[in-house]
Amino acid sequence: ADKQSRYKRILLKLSGEALLGEVNFGIDPKVLNRMALEIGQLVGIGVQVGIVIGGGNLFRGAALSAAGLDRVTGDHMGMLATVMNALALRDALERCNIATRVMSAIPMSGVVDHYDRRNAMRYLRQNDVVIFAAGTGNPFFTTDSAACLRGIEVEADVVVKATKVDGVYTADPMKDPSAKRYKHLSFDEVLEKQLGVMDMTAICLTRDHNMPVRVFNMNKHGALVNLVMGGDEGTLIDA
Ligand code: UDP
Repeated sequence: ADKQSRYKRILLKLSGEALLGEVNFGIDPKVLNRMALEIGQLVGIGVQVGIVIGGGNLFRGAALSAAGLDRVTGDHMGMLATVMNALALRDALERCNIATRVMSAIPMSGVVDHYDRRNAMRYLRQNDVVIFAAGTGNPFFTTDSAACLRGIEVEADVVVKATKVDGVYTADPMKDPSAKRYKHLSFDEVLEKQLGVMDMTAICLTRDHNMPVRVFNMNKHGALVNLVMGGDEGTLIDA
């Protein structure tokens, strides 16, 4: 990687909701293209990028189950939704001439590759973007947990979680104007204060394996590159 970049390999978590942009359901192509450009900038400076993408813009197992659907079936639908988002993101990246692989935790021969850790690491080393789809492959998990799991597995330097706000706050900044951003938090503080950055499973996994997490605002242009280049961006969570 470029000498100046803070991280050589990152695992970027994008929520499905972020893809909504100005549409109510599905994918806003404008958002997709902007994300592809920002990811392309990272690749351009030599950063290896793995991505876990959510599916909340299409289906969420818990929401479907609240409406009467079997939870496990709903979670399977949610995981398939992440594959659709992954395909859309790969398309946007490849239109920007960024070599991209999609590896799914659920085998889907002929559509995407099946996740294989050693192959994933080989692709990352050759600077291909790798999108990890279908979450962990198991119901009752989230794509946040999948991001932490894959980040740890492929030995990323950091898990970078994209949100709609500038980081983790003392209160909801959308509702409370006096809310302040934490620049730094420990895993234990996140758990103690129940800050809801990610679900418990995800936070515990990062704590147990000492994988730093950075939460930042994906709607802020240039924030992703800035944080990778060492800027004071978002909130850092580590030991
Ligand atoms: N999901 C799952 N196992 C996983 C990851 C995801 O069952 O390992 C399902 C779950 O139903 C979830 C849906 O996929 O609601 C979409 O993922 P998520 O809600 O994490 O997406 P995001 O909130 O990031 O858009």
